[in-house]
Amino acid sequence: MKTLPMFFNGAWATAGDGATREILNPANNQVIAVVTDGSEHDARLAIAHARRAFDEGPWPQMRAPERAAYLFKLADLIDKNAAALAELETRNNGKPLREAKYDVADAAACFRYYAGLITKPLGQTYEVGDPAIQGLVVREPLGVCGQIIPWNYPLLMAAWKLAPGLAAGNCCILKPAETTPLTAIELFKLIAEAGFPPGAAQLLLGPGHTAGHALAASLLVDKIAFTGGTVTGRKIMAAATGNIKKVTLELGGKSPCIVFADADFEVALEYAMFAIFAGQGEVCSAGSRLLLDRKIADRFLPRLADASARIVVGDGLHPETEMGPLITPAHMEKVLGDIEAGRAEGAETICGGHRLTAGALAHGNFVAPTIFVNTQPGMKIVREEIFGPVLAVQLFATEEEAIHLANDSIYGLAAGVFTGDVGKGLRVLKKLRAGITWLNTYHPTFCEAPWGGYKQSGLGRELGTFGLDAYLETKQININTAPAPLGWFRSAGTG
Ligand code: NAD
Repeated sequence: MKTLPMFFNGAWATAGDGATREILNPANNQVIAVVTDGSEHDARLAIAHARRAFDEGPWPQMRAPERAAYLFKLADLIDKNAAALAELETRNNGKPLREAKYDVADAAACFRYYAGLITKPLGQTYEVGDPAIQGLVVREPLGVCGQIIPWNYPLLMAAWKLAPGLAAGNCCILKPAETTPLTAIELFKLIAEAGFPPGAAQLLLGPGHTAGHALAASLLVDKIAFTGGTVTGRKIMAAATGNIKKVTLELGGKSPCIVFADADFEVALEYAMFAIFAGQGEVCSAGSRLLLDRKIADRFLPRLADASARIVVGDGLHPETEMGPLITPAHMEKVLGDIEAGRAEGAETICGGHRLTAGALAHGNFVAPTIFVNTQPGMKIVREEIFGPVLAVQLFATEEEAIHLANDSIYGLAAGVFTGDVGKGLRVLKKLRAGITWLNTYHPTFCEAPWGGYKQSGLGRELGTFGLDAYLETKQININTAPAPLGWFRSAGTG
């Protein structure tokens, strides 16, 4: 198998020490590719290229409409290659093909959104007391941006990082997760085809604790944008202090999906499933806690358990598959361990709770859709992010209790509320300490809207105008339109 490379300064590159990594299909753990595996040394090279491209190259100096044209071209190339990209995403990440197709379309849309946004008015003018002064606020690129992404949305996360970063005129270094670099490599083929100037975007492969850490710690990197686990986020924040790097963090969650008794029963039922089982539950905003009105629990839970047990789990490439495998055997073992911890603490499963091994599933990392009832707020399965298809049900009697349970978490990423009373829904959403909220829906994600978390779910926002702000510096310019001697120093006025 040919070793797939990184991309530095407009050219393909392999790791200095020749290290490689096998990439597996999580549906069967077969090797599907071999990639070069960068190290700290390679990260330093990527940084040097990006630094030079930013300090001396054309990209940050280019007019916004010209940069936008590159992004539009890239979006068109993504669309043109959509079928192949989606299939590759499914083979590398495991998610069902229908989900991967949405990711590819959303990635193209994200490049188009920021291509459009960067050509719209930015900055301000301001009036001060002195009539001779004309004040301007201009926005400028931040510099070299390190962008570290996880394995659950490999292509889409690359787009969320590169689109605003490049649109703003920064020189970027993308580091995908070790396990899922394949669609990012394809994306960089398209970046090469679109003809971006050398150094505008680099692709760095390799482990987080070496290649990723080097980006976070380097004094030559101006910003680090990270999506991943909260524990890693803390390490990155600490490593970034050396040069007071700008930091944005999109971290984990334990998000509540709240169903009131007056909700449309069928709508709430399917969304409660979609909230947790889409993407095998490997979704940062997954509705991994179902907060259910006691009044409907007897009717809701048996239907939920029955429908969840009949979700078709399998290889994401099979057209009938509704839920795919977990990313690695190690992650599957972690999820199964969390399920055991739930049982040990006294919660009961009404669905799933085990690995799936029938037929070909035995070769992959498949866990059955799992639902726990009889939970207590202190249990590990209620408090900690599992990042798998595991739902913890919590019952409530009043609106106040639902709000209290929802907010009883170190996380604050997302929340959904289902109710027939829109006024009540909005009242509840406003009391939730979470950055992404939905009323009578769950999961739709829009590149127009800011994405990010309260509390330990993150720092800053991606997407929308907020996402562009996070890649821009802000400069005040004060122009004296009527220069005259100041008269401050007598010695200066004796000429
Ligand atoms: P992870 O934190 O282990 O890894 C994420 C990335 O960080 C990878 O590229 C990895 O190589 C790199 N990394 C690891 N250690 C590093 C270090 N010390 N320095 C620099 N980089 C390092 O997370 P994961 O297991 O890949 O992803 C799952 C996590 O991501 C979950 O907790 C999930 O909630 C979170 N996530 C959050 C969002 C969001 O938008 N909030 C989106 C997707 C995933």
